[in-house]
Amino acid sequence: MIITKMKSDEEITKMLKPFKKLFVVGCGTCSTSCQTGGEDQVKEMYEKLGDRATGWTMVEEPCDLRITRRDLKDNKDQIAEADAIVVMSCGGGVQTVSDFTKSIVLPANETLFIGQTERIGKFHDMCKACGECILDETGGICPITRCAKGLLNGPCGGQVNGKCEVGDYEEECAWVQIYDRLKEQDRLELFTVFRPPRDNSTKVLTTHYYFR
Ligand code: SF4
Ligand code: SF4
Repeated sequence: MIITKMKSDEEITKMLKPFKKLFVVGCGTCSTSCQTGGEDQVKEMYEKLGDRATGWTMVEEPCDLRITRRDLKDNKDQIAEADAIVVMSCGGGVQTVSDFTKSIVLPANETLFIGQTERIGKFHDMCKACGECILDETGGICPITRCAKGLLNGPCGGQVNGKCEVGDYEEECAWVQIYDRLKEQDRLELFTVFRPPRDNSTKVLTTHYYFR
């Protein structure tokens, strides 16, 4: 799931200030789960806007252009009447709404990471979408994301009693976790696999994917 948090009231007020009329779009998927763009939050935003609001709607999955097209088609007039659209989703949804409507879009949320939900309001950063997944070698624990230094061949010299030096030893060292998990799985031979540095200069080529 894409984890988002709402911008502060001050940030939202400042961002919306130049616009007289606004339409509000929520996200029926991740941002509903994060309570940053579900129906309750969208209605709250709509009510706060008062006379400035031309309407609101939920898009089931605003990061999907086909669904955005389907779910916004009945709101054309309200969108046309608005100077801008407040989108309560992740950045993927905001850009999709922009692509479809060509309107000015205002992101109500900050997009944080691809995460695991422990419970509503408690999420863990799990994946940086690197495009070269090695979870099969690391016991299902991502060092790119969960090691503070993103080390491919950890642990570094900074771990003490299984805790990471970054953040004052409050967080677990990902590489100690990887070691423990591989040991539990009786696959410790994977711990000595050497991974060469990645060629990040090619990353720009992976912006678009086409699956057949
Ligand atoms: S290695 Fe980590 S960042 Fe890369 S795809 Fe796998 S989980 Fe995501
Ligand atoms: S102590 Fe562990 S988690 Fe922290 S930076 Fe070093 S290897 Fe990564």
